[in-house]
Amino acid sequence: MMTADVIIVGAGVTGAAIARELSRYKLSVLVLEKEAEPAFGVSKSNSGIIHAGTQNPPNSLKGWLAVEGNRLIREELAADLGLDFARCGQLIVVFDPADLPELEKIKKDGEALGVRGLEIVDRAWLDANEPNLGPEVKAALLAPSAGIISPYRFVYALVENAVKNGAVLKTSRKVTAIRRPAAGGFEVVAGGEVFRARFLVNAAGLYADEISALAGAPAFKITPRKGEEYLLDKKRGHISNRILFPLPSGTSKGILIIKTSDGNPMIGPTARDTADKEDLSTSDEGLAEVLAGARRMIPSLSKSDIIAYFSGLRPVSGKDFIIRHEDGAPGLVNAAGIQSPGLTSAPAIAVMVADILKKHGLGLEPRENFHRLRPRPVHLFQVPPEETRRLIAKNPAYGDIVCRCELVSAQEIRDALKRGARTLDGVKFRTRAQAGRCHGGFCTTRILKIMREELGFPVTALTKRGPGSELIKDERKWPSEELDRSS
Ligand SMILES: Cc1cc2nc3c(=O)[nH]c(=O)nc-3n(C[C@H](O)[C@H](O)[C@H](O)COP(=O)(O)OP(=O)(O)OC[C@H]3O[C@@H](n4cnc5c(N)ncnc54)[C@H](O)[C@@H]3O)c2cc1C
Repeated sequence: MMTADVIIVGAGVTGAAIARELSRYKLSVLVLEKEAEPAFGVSKSNSGIIHAGTQNPPNSLKGWLAVEGNRLIREELAADLGLDFARCGQLIVVFDPADLPELEKIKKDGEALGVRGLEIVDRAWLDANEPNLGPEVKAALLAPSAGIISPYRFVYALVENAVKNGAVLKTSRKVTAIRRPAAGGFEVVAGGEVFRARFLVNAAGLYADEISALAGAPAFKITPRKGEEYLLDKKRGHISNRILFPLPSGTSKGILIIKTSDGNPMIGPTARDTADKEDLSTSDEGLAEVLAGARRMIPSLSKSDIIAYFSGLRPVSGKDFIIRHEDGAPGLVNAAGIQSPGLTSAPAIAVMVADILKKHGLGLEPRENFHRLRPRPVHLFQVPPEETRRLIAKNPAYGDIVCRCELVSAQEIRDALKRGARTLDGVKFRTRAQAGRCHGGFCTTRILKIMREELGFPVTALTKRGPGSELIKDERKWPSEELDRSS
């Protein structure tokens, strides 16, 4: 039976950030994840915004944690972990001068939370700085500290750095039972194995209510709130210079025009409660709502700009995050109900969870050889031509382009596999290979071949996103020469 000081359930951004934070200390930390790779839950399907912290009540936990998470990402993690983060700023626009008092209130609430640099800007400022805005927009609140990030690459960076500092990640380990032995602590059954720890951190996203109940803590309920997002062609990449928001509604920040760290603009998300934690469908109504909301801000947007779409489910429990020690199950810390802005808040949630664990008896003695830095992986699509030439001269595999849509080389795919990718989606999220206009039509067979070489698995064991998503059922029907010919 494997024993750790702390077991974390869930390798989304919350669990990954907690693992990285705890790996600063002389502790054994074990992360159990039910999927084949980290970042396959809510953390892969979101808007990728590192919010400034506005649009939250001043007395809310999520407001404070978003402001602090934004600061930690901007001032520390982006450089330390080589993150794809860009501080582009955000605008909350109003369509009616009568809404200006509402904008003033958001500014005042944001300032109470510690958001810096907030400024109300008029139409003349908008004409000079956001020339594509439609005539309906009258004024806006500028929040310069907001930014964008690659959400999955954020999670991979956190996990890689935690593992470098001694944390252990076990994937394909669905937690199915939790026992509390009389001597204290927890025995966690996952993937047919039993793991033991004094402390248990629940960062299970949509399933955090079920994990909390398994551990014997008082019940709460997670309701999924679906958000449909529509990704636009890169040719519309300059449609806005900042992230554009309307005034928030009671349940969401509204339909946004989002810059993404990979260059495609995105529009969305919707916000509809659903009963099904696995329902990631999109709908005609969602598309119509998103297009209408986005076109009110930028009328030149059209349906034909859309190249891909997806849904994500926010894990909602009431109006705020639930981050607390459960006295009813001593040693359990819940990090649950991590709806938006959970991606932004994750580093601050991690610090808060470490503090809670310390208050309940976990010794936090700093590790002398903590590796704070993680080298930034190479992404050719971000590298200037002279640097690309230098890379190819050193290693010709950088000149062997596998994904032509997104300019991803064989070396980047090999690097991704060495850093932990085990599935086609894991390769896609780390490198962007298969994420372009052809959706992998051109490069999938070549990627499979590289995976087979690097991982040493038969091609029938390679999957899109874990067991049940195998691509090739019978190797004889896809002879290896065919894979070789495609290279
Ligand atoms: C449409 C949409 C847009 C959003 N936009 C933003 C944004 O722009 N900015 C922002 O800050 N936030 C945003 N969010 C919120 C943000 O995505 C979430 O708050 C965050 O990703 C939650 O991360 P998590 O780690 O708590 O959950 P998850 O990423 O879901 O991680 C939980 C993990 O636990 C695993 N797990 C579950 N059950 C078990 C089990 N029994 N055993 C083992 N493992 C288990 C899951 O597989 C999963 O990997 C958005 C959310 C949505 C849906």
